[in-house]
Amino acid sequence: MSSRSIGLNERLGEYLFSVAVRDSDVLQRLRQETAKEKAARMQISPEQGAFMAVLVKAIGARRCVEVGVFTGYSSLVVAQALPADGRLIACDINEQWTSVARRYWQEAGVAHKIDLRLAPAIETLDGVLRQGGAGTFDFAFIDADKANYDAYYERVLKLLRPGGIVTIDNVLWGGSVADPTKSDPDVDAIRALNSKLRHDDRIDVSMLPVGDGLTVARKRE
Ligand code: SAM
Ligand code: CA
Repeated sequence: MSSRSIGLNERLGEYLFSVAVRDSDVLQRLRQETAKEKAARMQISPEQGAFMAVLVKAIGARRCVEVGVFTGYSSLVVAQALPADGRLIACDINEQWTSVARRYWQEAGVAHKIDLRLAPAIETLDGVLRQGGAGTFDFAFIDADKANYDAYYERVLKLLRPGGIVTIDNVLWGGSVADPTKSDPDVDAIRALNSKLRHDDRIDVSMLPVGDGLTVARKRE
């Protein structure tokens, strides 16, 4: 019994990985290729991916949106969890990283489910809203530039149907959010959003200490 979340040391992290992660061969190879990138740490952890996949299936999601693709691991996890007619709008600005993503989506046979939009995500989300997308999405994952998190959240919340789920990554930001000596545009933006969500009566919300902290919020009816 514990009133706190358990901290993961290396041994427990490895144990968790060994019993809780079922990465397919394609996902494993994508992790290996991404590990060679300087920015490899941007990729979500496999246990977080597994959780997101369960969530997508649990709510029967068909229409999803992702803000922040990188080399495509989280998109692939979500796309694989979608039914055959499910679709994911994937937003990023980086041609090089997303070309790796496209390769793996193709290999995994889910490329037809993913609509990659290479443009600043605010523009993409505003475009989807202008085209009547409000209230039509089931699931969203926000994992791009932290300074724009609130802008992404507000747009995504409009896109979600009542009962839809938004997940927000890095909400603990390596612990910096709890360190009063730390202030920069990223940590300030994450702190502000965390505080805002605590009192946001448009959602039910839970913040999980998985990966670098994951907020899961459900849009209220
Ligand atoms: N979800 C990915 C994964 O699990 O592998 C990691 C995403 S990574 C943390 C953040 C991504 O956001 C980068 O690929 C970056 O190019 C993208 N990004 C940064 N600013 C952006 C913007 N204004 N609009 C869209 N994407 C942006
Ligand atoms: Ca992240």
